[in-house]
Amino acid sequence: MDGRRSKLFTPGPVEVPRELVEAAGEVVHHRSAEFRALFGEVRLGLRRLFRTGGEVAVLAASGSGAMEAAAANVISPGDRALVVRSGKYGGRWEELCLAYGAKVDRIDVEAGDAVDPSEVGRRVREDRPEAVFLVHSETSTGALNDVEAVARAVAGRAAVIVDVVSSLGVHAFEMDGWGVGLAVAASQKGLGLPPGLALVALGPEARPWVERARSPRYYFDLRKYVTAAQEDQTPFTAPVTQVAALAAALRKIEPLEENLIRHARLAQATRAGCRALGLEIFPTVPSNAVTVFRVPASLDAGALVRVLDEEFGVRIAEGQGGLKGKILRLGHLGWVGEQDLVRLFEALEGGLRRCRHPFEPGRGVDAVRGALARPAGDGDRGP
Ligand SMILES: *Cc1c(COP(=O)(O)O)cnc(C)c1O
Repeated sequence: MDGRRSKLFTPGPVEVPRELVEAAGEVVHHRSAEFRALFGEVRLGLRRLFRTGGEVAVLAASGSGAMEAAAANVISPGDRALVVRSGKYGGRWEELCLAYGAKVDRIDVEAGDAVDPSEVGRRVREDRPEAVFLVHSETSTGALNDVEAVARAVAGRAAVIVDVVSSLGVHAFEMDGWGVGLAVAASQKGLGLPPGLALVALGPEARPWVERARSPRYYFDLRKYVTAAQEDQTPFTAPVTQVAALAAALRKIEPLEENLIRHARLAQATRAGCRALGLEIFPTVPSNAVTVFRVPASLDAGALVRVLDEEFGVRIAEGQGGLKGKILRLGHLGWVGEQDLVRLFEALEGGLRRCRHPFEPGRGVDAVRGALARPAGDGDRGP
């Protein structure tokens, strides 16, 4: 902990390792040869990370800015959009589609469940939307949607647009291989950077949709970013220090396969720790970015979060909207280490004791240690 600042175990923003803070460095001019070389490296690293032969736009915004850019560049007023409402972030897709004048068809998913891909396929055949919007790792419920199966069910009948904000670098994602048209992400999640950078990946087939879309756009006109990127440039003043930190994060995240295994192991250990404390895992198909558990009836969720922050130096996340008070969320994405996770559970046990919640002391920490001590196995890539 730095001074009195609590260590972040929230599903974004996340702790930023010292080396990535330092990598931001000094301000160079965004039209200098130095910056172009850096941006060229970032372009390649991002295409490798999203697994696309297309282009990745780097925007100065939070993740919602990337979502807005995707919507504005694909939707024309009057288009039909099918939105998978899996939680707060699925709901944000709906709000954006409506803001850009789409006629929205919805698939409502019970909070904590993952969408049934065949239902998406059926609705695409019936409603004939131009685009399908969904979230890979629904950070508000901790559930993981099977994007590969959804894209297969859509079978090229509509553009597939995916929020991978909390899954990029955490779960396997194959943009081109799965047939995803656009994908959006942000710096303050799996990349382990400060908030402020948003990413929009455009697959090889996305260009014609972006050309065809008739929604007004200017700063978020992705054509500007694609054209500039082909010269290793950004269309406007680039957030140069953030881009330098991004370059360092993209180096650190390789080999990607090991990074995915690391997240799967942290997630398994976190789930084991929760269960050992009698805390029930909320989602049916849990994401490896965040572990969400149900708040037992006898526990005040807000009080626990406050005690952990004020007395134990760790910050976890409450439920949002209708899930406030009902669930709690433990983020383990980015560069969380195994010892960090043990310390989180030591704090969690301390907090539960302070809140007079009954549990067997030591069991959570032991379960986390036990899970982490097992060698990596086949199941460790997770779903
Ligand atoms: C964090 C997050 C976002 C973006 O939120 P911002 O606050 O705008 O960065 C979008 N989708 C998901 C799934 C997220 O976890």
